[in-house]
Amino acid sequence: MSTQTWAEPYKIKMVELIKMTSREDRLAAIEKAGYNTFLLRSEDVYIDLLTDSGVSAMSDRQWAGIMMGDEAYAGSRNFYHLRDTVEEYYSYRYTVPCHQGRGAENILSQILISPGDYVPGNMYFTTTRLHQELAGATFVDVIIDEAHDPESEHPFKGNVDFDKLDALVDEVGQDKIPYICIATCVNMAGGQPISLENLRQVRAWCDRHDVMLVHDMTRVAENAHFIQQREDAYKDKTVREIVYEICDLTDAATMSSKKDAMVNIGGFLAMNDAKFYEKACGLVVVYEGLHTYGGMAGRDMEALAIGITESVQDEHIHARVGQVQYLGRKLREAGVPIVNPIGGHAVFLNASKMLAHIPQEHFPAQALSAALYVDSGVRSMERGIVSAGRNKETGENYKPNLELVRLTIPRRVYTQAHMDVTVGAVTDVMEQRSTIKGLRFTYEPEMLRFFQARFEPI
Ligand SMILES: *Cc1c(COP(=O)(O)O)cnc(C)c1O
Repeated sequence: MSTQTWAEPYKIKMVELIKMTSREDRLAAIEKAGYNTFLLRSEDVYIDLLTDSGVSAMSDRQWAGIMMGDEAYAGSRNFYHLRDTVEEYYSYRYTVPCHQGRGAENILSQILISPGDYVPGNMYFTTTRLHQELAGATFVDVIIDEAHDPESEHPFKGNVDFDKLDALVDEVGQDKIPYICIATCVNMAGGQPISLENLRQVRAWCDRHDVMLVHDMTRVAENAHFIQQREDAYKDKTVREIVYEICDLTDAATMSSKKDAMVNIGGFLAMNDAKFYEKACGLVVVYEGLHTYGGMAGRDMEALAIGITESVQDEHIHARVGQVQYLGRKLREAGVPIVNPIGGHAVFLNASKMLAHIPQEHFPAQALSAALYVDSGVRSMERGIVSAGRNKETGENYKPNLELVRLTIPRRVYTQAHMDVTVGAVTDVMEQRSTIKGLRFTYEPEMLRFFQARFEPI
């Protein structure tokens, strides 16, 4: 069989019916939701591309695992299965379960950061940066410039720029840098990978400067797939081998298992250092739960352990990324401006280009996302100035170069026909773009404002 096909390596044995709505229904729904797709009711959505988080379809094996839950308060057998799976597939010796990724970020940030520290990273992520800031650190973006340019075709836009890292050391000194946070398949850059060559250099840089290397491994399998496709030295390695090699280069990891690992809830903090593990166990009981469940039910830890083994299979990840590439290619063929290269988990529409008549302060990506929903019931998400938030010192809006709408594909959920409908919806909206108006806040939350903010048309 040709490896070029992305046809799914599974068949469907249960379906969930979805409601069809009219344009009038959707207009009323988006007004009620304050033009924020996060505030829509899911039953009013036709194709839900809001996120790939916690919305994947579990396999029959994972569901069987759910029935094998050992719901003991302490020492659940599912915890040991999860811990052993993390070590076998991801290399880390110690695992602290958490209710989801941000639970792990909270514990990690509190342990490693002292007020006044700086944490470099290959682009910010919303919850990651917030926990760094709450612990007293300042995030510093050290990703290559190409990552901020939606037109750049660089194959590894997740790479680190060492001039930026060196400049930070010159400015603040390495003692003020507790760790560097490296995300695989960088979400905010458009699902763009880091190369193993670059990661190996980051490892060497960390060793030279006595700085820890922390891995945001939420989408490590998708990153491994791109390494296999684009980095010559790895074309004959399996995704599973590449995933292990990536993890093995890093000291610790935070994981939102709601993404790659295909469970509806869960995550963990993992590390190799025994002292760090001891401190994490001390904090997890405060914020999440005992160190052998950390906010997860036994059954969920079991489904996660099984999901990890499925997530690193070559045929799974080829189909997963293949579907995203299919959607992206179709949109590009239709003349829609998108972020290139097409990412691993989502296609990002370039809203500043599509809605050039709306200035960034009037939230073009937010307006585009709302218009797309009204047109066809396709739910997407803003990733632009609203998501970026405000600088905590000056109160000014961060103004990201990327003003995007994210069409995020859940794993193993939608069909090729759903992707075709999505292409039709986006091209429809493109044609009517001159009728789309900018937005202003009617309610702006202080933290992670994009989740609950409300807007009205200008
Ligand atoms: C989703 C995500 C997180 C946070 O995880 P949650 O499970 O949503 O708390 C952290 N980093 C990245 C890159 C993510 O995509």
